[in-house]
Amino acid sequence: MSIFLNNEFDCMLTDEMKNAIYQAISQSEKAKINIYLIGGIVRDLILKNQIKDIDIAVEGDAVCFAEKLVQHLNCEIISAQENLRTAKVKFPSGIEIDFASTREEQYLDSGMLPVACNFGCELEKDVKRRDFTINTLALILTGDEKFKLIDYFDGYGDISNKQIKILHDKSFIDDPSRIIRALKFKKRFDFEIEQNTSSLIDEYLNNINKNMPLERIKNELRQYFSIKKQNIYGEVIKTRAYKLISDNPVQDFNYSRLLEITDYELIDEKDIWFIFICLLLVNDNYHKEKLNMTAFEIKVLDEVNELLSEKNIKLNDNERIYKLYINKIDLSVAIFYILTGEKSVIKFLTALKQIKVLITGKDLINLGFIPSKYFSELFDKILKEKLKGKLTKKEDEIKFVQKFLKKQSR
Ligand code: ATP
Repeated sequence: MSIFLNNEFDCMLTDEMKNAIYQAISQSEKAKINIYLIGGIVRDLILKNQIKDIDIAVEGDAVCFAEKLVQHLNCEIISAQENLRTAKVKFPSGIEIDFASTREEQYLDSGMLPVACNFGCELEKDVKRRDFTINTLALILTGDEKFKLIDYFDGYGDISNKQIKILHDKSFIDDPSRIIRALKFKKRFDFEIEQNTSSLIDEYLNNINKNMPLERIKNELRQYFSIKKQNIYGEVIKTRAYKLISDNPVQDFNYSRLLEITDYELIDEKDIWFIFICLLLVNDNYHKEKLNMTAFEIKVLDEVNELLSEKNIKLNDNERIYKLYINKIDLSVAIFYILTGEKSVIKFLTALKQIKVLITGKDLINLGFIPSKYFSELFDKILKEKLKGKLTKKEDEIKFVQKFLKKQSR
């Protein structure tokens, strides 16, 4: 039985999206090249999820196709990958569409990036390189059968049965980042990982290829840990997927402390994924190069470790709390709190951190001081008083300095 998704196409896409796709369709019919909506967008149309990205497979050369769109319409190619024959095109309405030439992929070395070949091949060959049956669906755009579903692997059935299923048994050996993708789709859609797929995940995790590059895995973990649902960390521990990047993760953590930190708006939401990465890596020798970590990420991990080594110091006075945290990145301090529950962190982030000396060097000169390195000592003295809860106003600071000056001149 043929399935057509005209209704879903009409209801789920904005007018701008539909117009852009129709412009691409008209070009494909002129050029007699078949194009298809492919992958995540078709899955999401069926699931009636919000559509964010539009991917179109071109049974031909997608870069040439994109150039035609630029010639005939007011479109712009905003990026192109010549080696993969893909192009991102911006339409006059601002809508962006990713065009990719159909292709096959060969994994010459397990876990390494595949070699792409046979560009412009039939769609059926292209879908065989994909990860899960639910992501193999395509929607015909060119010709008389518009919006007809092409489903070589019964992806439609698996969506209906909420199953995440790989296409062949070597899938995770070829690309272990698919393990994290499986967890991502499971969590995002409340699906189950099909039994054989789940056994193959276990099998792979018992025999990990230690030479594999970790960049794609990190990228998938970033997406996975950005899902706003409970127990996303626990799932990585329970399934042992952590083994892809760490031998010794923090096994458990206090979720309410994470909520507390986010409630206080002490960290940027976009950094939350990295908190989980830190929990995985903090006990381990993190593979800085293999994980392609940024200087910021390395600094946060190093600072968390530094703070953990000071954990036993009882922090009861404000000055010590201030000195310990003030030169650290907020995210490092927040992670230290999540790991230890050290209350001084909350005191620092919510109150002490905001304490600033109000008078300036100019004020000191006006008060009769001659500029010298003594200024910084003076500022330090004022700060100490403020951390004790004194000198809350600028006038108080001025009075303090004047008193200090008198004492010195006696
Ligand atoms: P999302 O909504 O997270 O963007 P998506 O399915 O669109 O989900 P993308 O990462 O944008 O995911 O990938 C687009 C398509 O490329 C997928 O639907 C899938 O067919 C294919 N794909 C992506 N990553 C892999 C992979 N590691 N192995 C095989 N196929 C993949």
